[in-house]
Amino acid sequence: MPRLPPEAKTHIDEAGLIFGDDFNDSYFSRDNGLEESRAVFLKGCGLPHAWSDKSSFVIGELGFGTGLNVLAVWDAWRKSHPKDAILHIVTIEGFLLAAELAKAAHTAWPELQDLSDKLIANWPVHAYGAQRIWFHEEAICITLLIGPCVEMLKNMAFQADCWFLDGFSPARNPDMWSEAVFAQIARLSAPRARLATYSVAGRVKTGLTTVGFDISKEPGFGTKRQRLEARLNRPPSPEIQRPTTAMIIGGGIAGCSLASALMKRGLKVDLFDSDPCAATKASGNPIALVKPRLDRADTAEGRFFRAAFLFARRIYGSLGAAFEETGVLEIGTDPLSKERLANLGDDPPLPADYLLQGENASLIHKKGGLAYPHAVLASLKQGAIGRPVCVARIAHENGQWRAFDERGVCVANADICVLANGPGIAQFTDMGPYLRGRAGQLSWASFAGGAPFMPVTGGAYAAPFHDQLVFGATFDPCDLRDAPPPVSVASHLENYDKLAGLAPDLARQIDVKTASGRTSIRVTTPDHLPIVGAVPQADPGLYVLTGLGSRGFTTAFLCAEIIASQACREPSPVETAIAKALSPDRFARRAAKRSHSKVHQ
Ligand code: SAM
Repeated sequence: MPRLPPEAKTHIDEAGLIFGDDFNDSYFSRDNGLEESRAVFLKGCGLPHAWSDKSSFVIGELGFGTGLNVLAVWDAWRKSHPKDAILHIVTIEGFLLAAELAKAAHTAWPELQDLSDKLIANWPVHAYGAQRIWFHEEAICITLLIGPCVEMLKNMAFQADCWFLDGFSPARNPDMWSEAVFAQIARLSAPRARLATYSVAGRVKTGLTTVGFDISKEPGFGTKRQRLEARLNRPPSPEIQRPTTAMIIGGGIAGCSLASALMKRGLKVDLFDSDPCAATKASGNPIALVKPRLDRADTAEGRFFRAAFLFARRIYGSLGAAFEETGVLEIGTDPLSKERLANLGDDPPLPADYLLQGENASLIHKKGGLAYPHAVLASLKQGAIGRPVCVARIAHENGQWRAFDERGVCVANADICVLANGPGIAQFTDMGPYLRGRAGQLSWASFAGGAPFMPVTGGAYAAPFHDQLVFGATFDPCDLRDAPPPVSVASHLENYDKLAGLAPDLARQIDVKTASGRTSIRVTTPDHLPIVGAVPQADPGLYVLTGLGSRGFTTAFLCAEIIASQACREPSPVETAIAKALSPDRFARRAAKRSHSKVHQ
């Protein structure tokens, strides 16, 4: 299977409407797509009334298509959404349309022009997996699942308050209306979820009834005689309160990304950091390279790194000069890495506006670039209450998390507590044994060439920064209890050797004897994936984000989004396999499995 999802095959028919060639059906009603959307889906799900008393409302949609239903919902939401509420739309698409086609389709409804412009400017990337797209000012969050319908549903976790079933007609598009799809819809529904569709085909009625929906036929739209409304017949469960306050321990890229993700959801955030000037953290480096780690195999890890990069790019898009889209050239430096890059170039997992094959088996990450950590952190934590305090102890009392300083004084109370203090999580949890330390020295020296060039990477990396060439970094095992080692000439020379292997032309333009640098400690894990989620066997509301290694400025945003979504009981931004691969309980799970298989040998 190619690494890129299939493209939609379409043409514009004689009525000027977009038509799906593979399914021999049109994307929306010939009578008026927008009116159909309102009459079938919004009315069918009781919107906008159904969201009138909700602080968070989740719509599931099968068939994102041109995004017209999304625009219709968005239009209703902007006119009537409850104060401080967030609308989540989780929508599936196996054959993503090009943005220009969707844009052309929207032109029939000038009243939606402004919303269409926003959606088109943030159009999903043509790549497999879940992509989260925030429209923060409008309090709308879209999670687009690109891939085959039933597989994507099986691999997600959310509770929809209502569903729009908008595949092509059941006779022409049976995969969207299968028993397996209906079973997933029931699994992913809130107890009294509503559902609407234009189809009253027998298989739809039977499929929905079998999985527990009560159905009713209503007068249809346009030339269609009838449409379907349904409601899941499952007893309601008590609503769990969303948290309103959070304390975050650690103010590096992990903590600041969390602060931003939680504030976006209206939480009041206390951000604790005993080293607010980032003197010791990797987040204090002058630059950070941002590029995806691309894998050949389609694994949860590979999907995580790709999704994290796509999400990071969306966040950087809102951080102004804190990020520069320079592009990044990835070079193979040994036969294995050359082969890997050649293979990825031949069959890329990202579209051509993101990834191009370069010369000599290299890859050009067109949307990669440089993040400026100081500016990134400052921007992310705006609005959080900065606390330059060393938290010595935390405790869960009367449903609240409390933080105490070294004198035993309680310095904060919050509904949830997130540990984002790198190796320091060992102080508050028993997860210390799963952490590994790597001391990294970054070097820089005056650069005779001076002219900007595209940053290069391949094991090590080199990038321009003002009139300096930044290169490195070392990655030496170290004890996490130790302070970062002092900057050393030996490490400058090691970095220089790597630079000479990676980009000999650049190496020739600096004098390593004049190099300066900085060391910091990176926290990694045995499987090189971050630790993201609820702390196992702890009281509720305690989360951890650590182990970002040397990729924090690419991965922290999605990790923070996973935790914020879990804490606020919102749809997951990632596939379940990814959440599981990052989950803090994975090490204990694996250990239990190992000892179980030993016993049974
Ligand atoms: N709601 C859309 C809109 O507002 O424009 C129209 C949806 S169109 C009728 C049906 C969509 O389902 C198409 O975009 C099609 O590519 C998608 N689709 C069809 N089969 C699919 C499958 N097996 N998995 C995922 N998506 C599929």
